[in-house]
Amino acid sequence: MNKQLLFLISLQELDILIKEKEKEEEMGFPIKPCEELKKAREKIIEKIDAHLMRRYERLSERYGNPVVPVVDGICQGCYMLLPTSLISQKAKNERIHTCPNCGRFLYWVDD
Ligand SMILES: [Zn+2]
Repeated sequence: MNKQLLFLISLQELDILIKEKEKEEEMGFPIKPCEELKKAREKIIEKIDAHLMRRYERLSERYGNPVVPVVDGICQGCYMLLPTSLISQKAKNERIHTCPNCGRFLYWVDD
């Protein structure tokens, strides 16, 4: 799998964790600050290309899940069937692809 794509997936998982922790904090649960998660986040961001990062942040603000899997040719973000030209490409996870409808980053689980 493309390294940048892997980093984007890891970043999204971290962001979800951080959001959950912050929600627990708001609800008054006595939890440790998520400094470590935030440090890990910084480290991943350093490895991601700036233009991908900008796109990730934009998508993140709009949807909350900027990186989604493709199942049976369908984007799991907006549930649109992706064009055959995209589906029929080989080794799709070796490149960064985005959904032509919603713009989310895509990765294939059944490639
Ligand atoms: Zn989509």
